[in-house]
Amino acid sequence: MSTADSPTPNHFLRAIVAADQARGAYGGRVVTRFPPEPNGYLHIGHAKSICLNFGLAAEFGGVCNLRYDDTNPSTESVEYVENILHYVKWLGFDPGANVFFASDYFAQIYAYAVLLVKKGKAYVCDLSDEQTREYRGSTTEAGRPSPWRDRSVEENLRLLEGMKNGEFAEGSRVLRAKIDMADPNFKMRDPLLYRIRFAHHYRTGHTWKIYPFYDFAHCLSDAIEGITHSICTLEFENNRELYDWLLRECELPDPPHQYEFARLNLTWTVMSKRRFLRLVNDGHVSGWDDPRMPTLAGLRRRGVTPEALRALAERVGVAKANSVVEVELFENILRDDLNLRSPRGMAVSRPLRVVLTNWPEGEVASILAPLYPAEMALPGERTLHIGRELYIEATDFAEEAPKGWRRLSPGAEVRLRYGCVIRCDEVVKDASGTVVELRCTADRATMGGVAPEGRKVKGIVHWLNAENAVAAELRLYDRLVRVERPTGDDFLDELNPNSLEVCRGFVEPEIAKGDSPAHWQFERQGYFFRDPVEAAAGRLAFNRTVGLREGWAPEAAAEPAAAPVNAGRTESAAAPKGPAPQAARELTPDVEARRAALVLRHSLADAPARALAAEAALVDLFEAAAAGAPPSAVAPFVVNVVVGALRQAGRGPASLRGASVGRIVALLENGTLGAAQARRVLDLVLANDGDPDAIVLTEGLSRVSDPVAIAAWVAATLDAHPAELARYRAGQTTLLGFFVGKVLKLSGGRADAAAVQAAVGVALG
Ligand code: ATP
Ligand code: MG
Repeated sequence: MSTADSPTPNHFLRAIVAADQARGAYGGRVVTRFPPEPNGYLHIGHAKSICLNFGLAAEFGGVCNLRYDDTNPSTESVEYVENILHYVKWLGFDPGANVFFASDYFAQIYAYAVLLVKKGKAYVCDLSDEQTREYRGSTTEAGRPSPWRDRSVEENLRLLEGMKNGEFAEGSRVLRAKIDMADPNFKMRDPLLYRIRFAHHYRTGHTWKIYPFYDFAHCLSDAIEGITHSICTLEFENNRELYDWLLRECELPDPPHQYEFARLNLTWTVMSKRRFLRLVNDGHVSGWDDPRMPTLAGLRRRGVTPEALRALAERVGVAKANSVVEVELFENILRDDLNLRSPRGMAVSRPLRVVLTNWPEGEVASILAPLYPAEMALPGERTLHIGRELYIEATDFAEEAPKGWRRLSPGAEVRLRYGCVIRCDEVVKDASGTVVELRCTADRATMGGVAPEGRKVKGIVHWLNAENAVAAELRLYDRLVRVERPTGDDFLDELNPNSLEVCRGFVEPEIAKGDSPAHWQFERQGYFFRDPVEAAAGRLAFNRTVGLREGWAPEAAAEPAAAPVNAGRTESAAAPKGPAPQAARELTPDVEARRAALVLRHSLADAPARALAAEAALVDLFEAAAAGAPPSAVAPFVVNVVVGALRQAGRGPASLRGASVGRIVALLENGTLGAAQARRVLDLVLANDGDPDAIVLTEGLSRVSDPVAIAAWVAATLDAHPAELARYRAGQTTLLGFFVGKVLKLSGGRADAAAVQAAVGVALG
């Protein structure tokens, strides 16, 4: 089943954020972050994390920061920084001004280290790496305290300062948190916070002689930026306790929380920057952007679209348990995406010359062929030419035809796609016995798909007119590794030696034009993308993005409609019989066509376009609503909110006026309504077809940020909860969120959350 009829699936992180927002946590703010270390290029796994973090923020009206986690001086560089930002934007997310660097917080992080030392919660330890490991104990044995654990605060302060000033050798001392050497969680056994490094940092130069470890830098960076939901992958699950401990001991108010989800892993795919670095440095690939690499740079160059990557992220969902996604799922999503944006054309990758012996020298016939299969209802045609000399695919000829062979062999016939039937009369070989030319007869009565009485030709082959075919390099990519689940450090042994085949082929003139689209479906061969690097150098090369759907038997497909223009046989423009290849897809042609139209007209993302396209009436509703509000905001509202409301009310899309929906979205967009209020207005509109603006007025629903009104709600709330107030005053500051939630509730959800947060803060002193 496709997801065409199900709206965006829910997942646990979305539920957590929604619940936090509903109870007014963080004053209703949602701030996430994507925290790459700039030590390599982004890969498809990062795309998952980017979509999740930026997606959640956008969905809840929050922001997502791009934060470079650049606390390791030896591996990081500006090249990576720039590349990461470029590809975050390419994926469709723009952090705008919210681009941050953990290295900008070095001074603050150091100040927190001093605070911990002063509180007796951190100490300078002189054990060697090996001793530290030994002292840490094991799963069955508690660790032993370091002999340096009980240094005085004064001594620790002095030593820490000395570490910072470069007075001690690299590796001679570290700063450790003082927690519990017997804690069942290893991460809590006096974890390391700072180490001495004299390396040059690409941003701070030689200013710092000490660098914070991930666990120390990450939670503090999150808190400094006011992150609310810190989302990371499962391997950090055990770090969460430390994350909370550090923020608590550093006395950070309203601390962020860490949540873990499963990494994206794909079969037949190596996924780690460290391994990519090996592949690049050892010359197994041409660079980070080699089209066989699962880096975003490589995928883009291969012809993968941001829409397909976002659809993958959505389709695999967000899981709490690690798993490996089959790469075939991604390939199917990719085909679905490329199908819509790729006109059809012909290319020959391994050319074999064909001479039509009965075709007059110098005569050229033109044929109009559609750019898309008829059922896709997308416009466009290209002109093909046919003359005496052609190229066909060498693999479409066999001198000794195997059983069931439907292509060319001596004496056999095939149809040229959109053209006529030809018969192979003679095989010409060179001195070495290689077939270099076929001499064939053309049956011009069959031009354009006409099948005269009794004529049965099973095979159809793609071809090009030799005279005006344009030479192009076709790169056929296969999997980079030859095992389904590459095991790890032996992955170099698991590389597929045949992952790239470079063919000196030809393409239709239409495809070679400078202004022609970059994505093409080469008939019977797959989806191809004009290589942007070669194009910039003035060369023509096409990368195979993905093959056609497996199980599609091209030989069995009927001939699609083609109209000969001046081949002199207008009656031969016969209607196609039977389904054309692209009809054999999951989505019905109607849905496909509606989806295509939505994507083209409104640049909608794939998932909402699919969801809307499922029902014609839903598309109508969307179109009417999009007249009054930005389509990019209307689409998710219709898919995520309206569809559910209609279902609950037992109504169909046709019973709701699109203009009303558009107005509600406009009120949401301009901040008059919050999400909950928008839903309430929608329900009232559904109940009595009211006017949204009138409903907002009569129900008093618009968002209130008037300080006087909010102050009154805050005062009433504090009065109503004397016990909690006393506990707050006694130091239980985590109750702040409780009061904010109560105020929001008292206001009927109308009060502006940020204003309430501020007012509660003031009232509590
Ligand atoms: P790699 O192991 O490939 O080097 P990494 O985890 O070291 O990746 P970071 O730059 O530290 O890379 O990652 C930035 C963010 O991307 C982190 O939040 C990390 O959890 C997330 N991330 C990395 N790989 C994946 C993946 N395969 N699936 C989902 N998220 C990922
Ligand atoms: Mg990492």
